Amino acid sequence: MTEKTRGKRTTLVHGGTRRSQYGEVSEAMFLTQGFVYDTAEAAEERFVQAGPDEFIYARYGNPTVRMFEDRMAAITGYEDAFATASGMAAVNGALMALSKTGDHVVASRALFGSCLYVLESVLARFGVEITLVDGTDNAAWDAAIRDDTTLVFLEAISNPTLEVIDLRHVVEVSHKVGAKVIVDDAMATPIYSYAAECGADICVISTTKHVDGQGRMLGGVVCGDRETIRGPIETYLKHTGAALNPFSAWVHLKSLDTLDLRVRAQAGCALQIAQALETHSKLARVSYPGLASHPQHEVAMSQAESGGTVVAFEIDGGKEACFRFLNALEIFTISNNFADSKSIVTHPATTTHQRLPQAQKDILGISMGLVRLSVGLEDPDDLLADLMQALEAV
Ligand SMILES: *Cc1c(COP(=O)(O)O)cnc(C)c1O
Repeated sequence: MTEKTRGKRTTLVHGGTRRSQYGEVSEAMFLTQGFVYDTAEAAEERFVQAGPDEFIYARYGNPTVRMFEDRMAAITGYEDAFATASGMAAVNGALMALSKTGDHVVASRALFGSCLYVLESVLARFGVEITLVDGTDNAAWDAAIRDDTTLVFLEAISNPTLEVIDLRHVVEVSHKVGAKVIVDDAMATPIYSYAAECGADICVISTTKHVDGQGRMLGGVVCGDRETIRGPIETYLKHTGAALNPFSAWVHLKSLDTLDLRVRAQAGCALQIAQALETHSKLARVSYPGLASHPQHEVAMSQAESGGTVVAFEIDGGKEACFRFLNALEIFTISNNFADSKSIVTHPATTTHQRLPQAQKDILGISMGLVRLSVGLEDPDDLLADLMQALEAV
């Protein structure tokens, strides 16, 4: 049976495995910067053309990192992948490697703040024209994508408001003019990611999120066709020092063993919480792509089998009510990451999105009453009881 015909869970455990001469069961951690050559001739040869199992320097590649890259490519459905030190190194690498002065990039407006910085403050500085659109509006994409558009960038599910983009539509319109589509797929999770299936050319993932999923590691990966990944993407990333370190790659590999189990348990619990909160009298609105009341529910369910692990809602009474709610929670911890095994609560308007100008907060729907929950691996009954008692305190 080839790797291609295997299921995702088998691939998560075995994909890309390379064994040393010792035949170790668990993936080996090659904590080495460099590699030695038997002869001067062998060194010369490797610098001319390194074979698939030959390495030169860990900034270019390392056996443990390569295992992680091959496994990520296999589970996301892409030919190849390059692993990076963080999700932002992956986003920056993909955008910088694939654009040049005079290019036109269209992106959805509801982006992670650092992604917006790379587009508006870095790429724009080098003469790349950026057009931002309301990602949920197919007509807005149609109007913004031009004959000279070269790249399209979007988050399939936005953070923190959980807007869902009709990826198949955006890919179709982009490919008509020859533009490449880059999807930032942190929120969708590698288990439910539909980027490859919908035809996205490149998928970037912050593996800090669900892949590590236990609050320890920063990491990222750029996935795509082999020509692009081992061409412009690798060239840019290896020369600019974005490589993932072997220790982080090893922790990530061990995390992939349980990724499917963790994400399914977290997403199942998130749905349960969203359903229970939907009718709560103290909440103005509950947003979860898995709820029939979500504005893009049908699109979301046609692209993934789950609404994911994050739930957002609005509490009547603004900041004061939210803070009372956050401070009353006993199991949910107040933090700003998501996709952790520990459940997390975030007040985006005063933390992760504090610096956004008010006008932009208004456009994106980041109000003072908005709360984001990242659902972890605790007992669903305990999490529900915690949320209900904290809402009583509001
Ligand atoms: C977290 C996140 C990133 C950045 O990832 P880091 O690993 O923190 O650098 C980029 N995009 C999205 C959508 C994210 O959620």
